[in-house]
Amino acid sequence: LLGADGRLAPTIFAEMTALAAATGALNLGQGFPDEDGPRAVLDAAKHAIDHGCNQYGPGRGSQELIDAVVEHQRRFYGIGLGRGDVLVTAGATEALAATMLAYLSPGDEVIVFEPYYDAYAAVAALAGAVLVPVPLAAPDFQPDPDRLLRATSPRTRMIVVNSPHNPTGTVFTEESMRHIVRVAERRDAIIVTDEVYEHLVYDERHVPIATIDAARDRLVSISSAGKTFSVTGWKIGWIMASPERIAQIGAVKQYLTFVNGAPFQPAVAAGLRLPDEHFDTIVQSFTRKRDILARGLRKAGFQVHDARAGYFLLADAAPLGVEDATDLARRLPELVGVVGVPLSALARPSRRDLRSTLRFAFCKSDDMLGDAAGRLAGLRS
Ligand code: PMP
Ligand code: GLN
Repeated sequence: LLGADGRLAPTIFAEMTALAAATGALNLGQGFPDEDGPRAVLDAAKHAIDHGCNQYGPGRGSQELIDAVVEHQRRFYGIGLGRGDVLVTAGATEALAATMLAYLSPGDEVIVFEPYYDAYAAVAALAGAVLVPVPLAAPDFQPDPDRLLRATSPRTRMIVVNSPHNPTGTVFTEESMRHIVRVAERRDAIIVTDEVYEHLVYDERHVPIATIDAARDRLVSISSAGKTFSVTGWKIGWIMASPERIAQIGAVKQYLTFVNGAPFQPAVAAGLRLPDEHFDTIVQSFTRKRDILARGLRKAGFQVHDARAGYFLLADAAPLGVEDATDLARRLPELVGVVGVPLSALARPSRRDLRSTLRFAFCKSDDMLGDAAGRLAGLRS
């Protein structure tokens, strides 16, 4: 995370996107779609802009979006929320930052499952907290119950869960989630769950931790519109928690962004209310994309881990004779014109088992994925 000067350095995603721009390579590094989301959602934002929704809105978020989040939780998961249980944020990123800053004090310990989305480590560092990674390992990347328990201490203040998981594409089993809840109870820790890929689960249905009753009192659930509606640049996210927690986290949010994204909030509300057909179509389309890229990577000689959810595939380059995927990631644009992210950027250097693996995004047009597959095949020659 830190550069040579000891300060936070540009993220791996910014670095790899800059590399793609500089070399003209296909960017399968940073996770953002290259195709627009549903027309009805885009039109709703235009409509909001044209009809005066352009000033600061309410601190908790627009009533329309809050209501849509409440409806969405009931419709998809049978979860009953009240209006006071929701806070709209500038993406899941601000939701995470406001939550961590609200609860973490210097020296507090935060459990994360490794590899992990880089923002968890960065915000923990900003809060002066100590990151305690619990390794997830191939082939299934489920948390090991004993290792989780052993990683905790009386200083454990928070457990960050991310299922569906970036970068492995794993989905934690219900048993894993119940174990996490028991460990959190034992340590009286808060569970923060980042479920931004909730609608990108390919062979099963997403089960939020919030459906486990015992989790409720200690839970802060986070989601966002970016992935579900292919609008990553809009940065509309939301937090679901008890009104007390919403007040505590909202107090921090006031001083991060105050409010955000006025015209995009009603548009996301429209998205959350789209018929089931839309949500089924996303799953079908992303399943196809995952399979195109997985086939291409396997043909190119990578060992590919199955992704059950999300935007990404992990591809181990060891069968190609590669030891260090960071080095391969830097050379990949000139070798074959493709950019991927070295998995070690999302883990500690001690994770030698991840060293030869790259993360590739498949949230791209079928044409681009087909092109990337063809280019990657060049690695064999
Ligand atoms: N959490 C995870 C696991 C992510 O992959 C991302 C990035 N897309 C985010 C949070 C950030 O989401 P947002 O763009 O809504 O801030
Ligand atoms: N979540 C996206 C990814 O994992 C990128 C978001 C970012 O650039 N911070 O690629």
